Amino acid sequence: MFDAGSFALELLVTGAPGRFSVYEVFDKVENLGPWIAESRMTIGIPLDPADVVATDEEMRALREFRNTLWRVAPALAAGDQPAPEDLVVINEAVGAPPRIAIDTKTGRTTWAPPVTGTQILAAAARDAVGIIGTDLRERVRQCQGSRCLLTFLDTSRPGNRRWCSMQRCGNRHKVGAYRERKG
Ligand SMILES: [Zn+2]
Repeated sequence: MFDAGSFALELLVTGAPGRFSVYEVFDKVENLGPWIAESRMTIGIPLDPADVVATDEEMRALREFRNTLWRVAPALAAGDQPAPEDLVVINEAVGAPPRIAIDTKTGRTTWAPPVTGTQILAAAARDAVGIIGTDLRERVRQCQGSRCLLTFLDTSRPGNRRWCSMQRCGNRHKVGAYRERKG
């Protein structure tokens, strides 16, 4: 199980420009609600996927933001300064995030419907700004798996996380190291 450590970086698994576009999740608006309901945005506050609404234009903006992060996140992981035009895309996406409310029947915190594509984009952009503009940027890492492109925010206390997930790349590395020792 891959934990991106940040909502913004988690968006990277929804698709990517170029040859990875066949895996696009955000090409259909009906995919957005179920994906967001399982994302880091809704940790602690469950979301009914049916409460999520988005226009084609909002879906396009989400894809553009995510594709921008595909350039920004590797730059941060490499210790480089992201391109100014990419930072502009992120800055312009910052707005009002989804509203929370107390459910008058259950008394529990919930998301005030509708949760819009623009609000979701705003939440991701705020998260991204909070990483890029602070020392957290030094915690953005690319998985050390040999062919793995996944990027994550290292939230471990010692800051020594190396893999997207132990199951996916960590164990593969261990098996490879074992084979090398044997060979
Ligand atoms: Zn990996």
